[in-house]
Amino acid sequence: MLADSAVIRNEFVESNPVPSFTIITYLWVAQALTMAGLFLFIWSNDRSQRLFLFWGIGFLTHATGSALMGMRDFAPEVISGLLAVSILLSSFFFLVTGLRHCDGRQPAGWAAIPLLLWIAAISVPDIRAVFALKLAVYGLAAATGYLLLALTALTGRFSSTRYRRALAVIWTIQAMNSGSLMVAALVHAPQGLKDMAQGPIYGMIGMACFVAMLVVGAKIVQDQSESKLRRLIARDPLTGALNRRGLTEALPEFRAEIPEGNLVALVIFDLDHFKTINDSYGHQAGDQVLVEYSRRCAAMLRSSGLFCRSGGEEFIGVIHAGSDQEAAQLAESIRRRIAETPFQTDAGSLKVTMSLGIATTSADLFDLEVLMKQADKALYVAKEAGRNRSAIFRDDKIQIVKTASPEHLAQEVDDQADRQVAVLRRITEFAIAAKTRSTR
Ligand code: GH3
Ligand code: MG
Ligand code: MG
Repeated sequence: MLADSAVIRNEFVESNPVPSFTIITYLWVAQALTMAGLFLFIWSNDRSQRLFLFWGIGFLTHATGSALMGMRDFAPEVISGLLAVSILLSSFFFLVTGLRHCDGRQPAGWAAIPLLLWIAAISVPDIRAVFALKLAVYGLAAATGYLLLALTALTGRFSSTRYRRALAVIWTIQAMNSGSLMVAALVHAPQGLKDMAQGPIYGMIGMACFVAMLVVGAKIVQDQSESKLRRLIARDPLTGALNRRGLTEALPEFRAEIPEGNLVALVIFDLDHFKTINDSYGHQAGDQVLVEYSRRCAAMLRSSGLFCRSGGEEFIGVIHAGSDQEAAQLAESIRRRIAETPFQTDAGSLKVTMSLGIATTSADLFDLEVLMKQADKALYVAKEAGRNRSAIFRDDKIQIVKTASPEHLAQEVDDQADRQVAVLRRITEFAIAAKTRSTR
């Protein structure tokens, strides 16, 4: 992080009786290594937290680059200068990638600009031969890296705006610090770091920013752990659907987004004879059905709807709809598709059906407990009527929902055709009888 400080530390190397590492350089490297170790340790315990992998590598490259720079008294320039700065600047790529990962974004090629800038510059012999130019390019590359970090923080979503802005401010200060190092290198044209009188100032600013960044970073990680914990206690571990607590917590936001004039519909989904599935195919197959069933139902509910596992094989959907009919037809279409598409389990392909109880109310009269009771009564009627159907509680009455499925329509057409054939047959029979009578 404190790329500038790492450069300045070498000033101590040159004035210090200890020939290679000064105590400060050693402490600096140790600090970066400790952070790298801590991040990599967190990641090794939970591989899904890849932010810590990228930041661990970021700090490791930073520590390695700084350590190599500290060896400038006895290591060749290629290692303690060119390679050291290259490794150090590569840390920006990993730090930016870590932040982007928090937002679910892929690594970006532009995060390697600081490193590429440095490599491009030192491949020009005239720059490579002049210390002041190398220092200026380094300042420019580091400033670019910090600005990229600041931009990533500002445009990201990985934490609250407040913390992202705080990080952006810290990194902008770092960028200005590196930028002024570049200007100083060009203006004063130092022969070596010992010619940079203001060196320690860059180091102190960098150090202060580093500490500030760690404080904000710790706060962000704490916030993320808390929100992860909140997510965990709001969800059912088997299916990942909301649990009752999660549903209750999500309801206020859901209600605030209901369009004017829309109704709220609560649908209880209950699998038919699920105990028989467990008994016949085993509990594991039952679990597999539950997971896939939950995934399909949640996907079929509108994106604005809530879906919760209220217990066992019973789920609750809360949606908003323009009318009772619209809510009933949405529930019916989910029921049909569940019944039509078999579930793949280790015990084979299984067909399951479900019964639905629906209750609706206007948004301002919404009461979860009242709606649950009404939907439960409707579910009971659907079960009693033979299962694999929906029933809706409406005006203190419960009605079985007539399905508008293609088979249903086809059945009605067939029935109509049968009735027409029967009438024609009756007419023909009547005509034949009349003719027989007249010929007699
Ligand atoms: P009905 O059509 O009347 O709803 O019959 P049912 O068998 O579905 O209803 P019942 O309430 O009698 O049985 C529910 C069954 O759901 C009992 C239990 O074995 C099963 N079940 C509940 N939770 C789980 C679970 O997490 N995994 C599995 N595999 N089964 C579960
Ligand atoms: Mg059931
Ligand atoms: Mg049940």
